[in-house]
Amino acid sequence: MTARSASRTQPTGQPALATDIPSLERLLGSAAGQTLAAEVGRSRLTTTLRQILDEARSQALAGTLAASALEIDTLLSRAQTQIQAQDQPRLRAVYNLTGTVLHTNLGRALLPDHAVQAVVQALSAPANLEFDLSTGRRGDRDDLIEDLLCELTGAEAATVVNNNAAAVLLMLNALANRREVVVSRGELVEIGGAFRIPDIMQRAGARLVEVGTTNRTHPADYENALGPRTSMLLKVHCSNYAVTGFTRSVSVAQVARIAHNHGLPAAVDLGSGTLLDLTQWGLPREDTVRETIEAGADIVTFSGDKLLGGPQAGLIVGRAELIRKIKKNPLKRALRVGKLTLAALEPVLALYRSPELLADRLTTLRLLTRPAAQMHQQAERLQPVLQQALGPEYEVQSSPLFSQIGSGALPIDQLPSHGLSVRHAGTGRSGRALKALEERLRQLPRPVIGRIAHDALWLDLRCLEDRDEAAFALQLQGPVA
Ligand SMILES: *Cc1c(COP(=O)(O)O)cnc(C)c1O
Repeated sequence: MTARSASRTQPTGQPALATDIPSLERLLGSAAGQTLAAEVGRSRLTTTLRQILDEARSQALAGTLAASALEIDTLLSRAQTQIQAQDQPRLRAVYNLTGTVLHTNLGRALLPDHAVQAVVQALSAPANLEFDLSTGRRGDRDDLIEDLLCELTGAEAATVVNNNAAAVLLMLNALANRREVVVSRGELVEIGGAFRIPDIMQRAGARLVEVGTTNRTHPADYENALGPRTSMLLKVHCSNYAVTGFTRSVSVAQVARIAHNHGLPAAVDLGSGTLLDLTQWGLPREDTVRETIEAGADIVTFSGDKLLGGPQAGLIVGRAELIRKIKKNPLKRALRVGKLTLAALEPVLALYRSPELLADRLTTLRLLTRPAAQMHQQAERLQPVLQQALGPEYEVQSSPLFSQIGSGALPIDQLPSHGLSVRHAGTGRSGRALKALEERLRQLPRPVIGRIAHDALWLDLRCLEDRDEAAFALQLQGPVA
């Protein structure tokens, strides 16, 4: 960079010499240097300037150093730019226009504002995390949400850990260590990010006993697998695939009956774990946690940040005596949640007490239930803006499309939506042009994440709420390249 600008700014001048380079002390002692040091800290400025001066020395030796690059203000402003670039957070807000509402790679559920406020407060003020305000004694952090979870699920007791993978691991280690767990072959799931039932089982110290076949499992398969070392029967939600065609699975009620006949508990890893029947909002049907408990499950585990719409967490609800064992297991201490999670979880769970208000107040449900007509209107407004930004090389259209719930919730169901499709206007090389465009959008100050399919880049507007639309449009009016 400097070499090129040197030849550009001083086509005829002599390159600068190493002896022309100002000393570190002079830079730090200058008025601008002192101001910058007060802002970023003297030691950090010193380190950055040393690197810049070292580079200048090498350039001087190579005869490529321009005198203009040695102005005190120029050197200090380079240092400032470098420090600012380093300070750019790596975790950044993006626009999720992928059409997948609960996108694991983009952080899954978004929290409602009042839950965010609760997190901010928990961060900045001491809180009664493990302190019983009525007795003044030490408390249990689970107490903050246990009653609420029991009320919403009908379970006797509840506890919470870092995520559902942790919940399954802990539950198995606490209740099935060195013993056998019976699972249908049709339910040996792998969830993205290397959560695999057989592996978790092994790490938990439990022995997996597979029953049935991939497509069909019968009650007798479970019965025949029971023996003196059996600890429990486990059902796992087929979160990210569907077994269709010639199939047969055994219901939670049937599995629970078989388990109970033999004095064993039945556990269910429900994955998403919805608390209310989603069909009332026109969404596909999914067994709720309460229904699963009512069907006879003794332990149910589920995620906090999938359909529930809360923070990342693993919720474990069920019979009091089993939850007690789980809480006493040393792994519980290792997998427990922090106060930020609890601060966010409580207000989200509390929303479920008012089902009529949920589709408005719970961000995940609001996004999932947005009518396609809303996204259609947005697409009509944004089409000219994006077309203008991209120029004649691309053709932007308002297009109907389908969103997905995501995160292993209802994997094959799709929600009618609307968005923008972008095609390359020229002939040939359209694949490359779309990839280039996709990358340009990813490099924006607030990156825009879409998806490429069928020779077009698709931007699903479901997750662009009205309050974000103006800022989104404004960004497109800046340089998109
Ligand atoms: C998503 C899922 C998990 C993992 O849950 P995390 O909260 O992501 O750890 C485990 N089991 C099932 C069935 C799931 O769908």
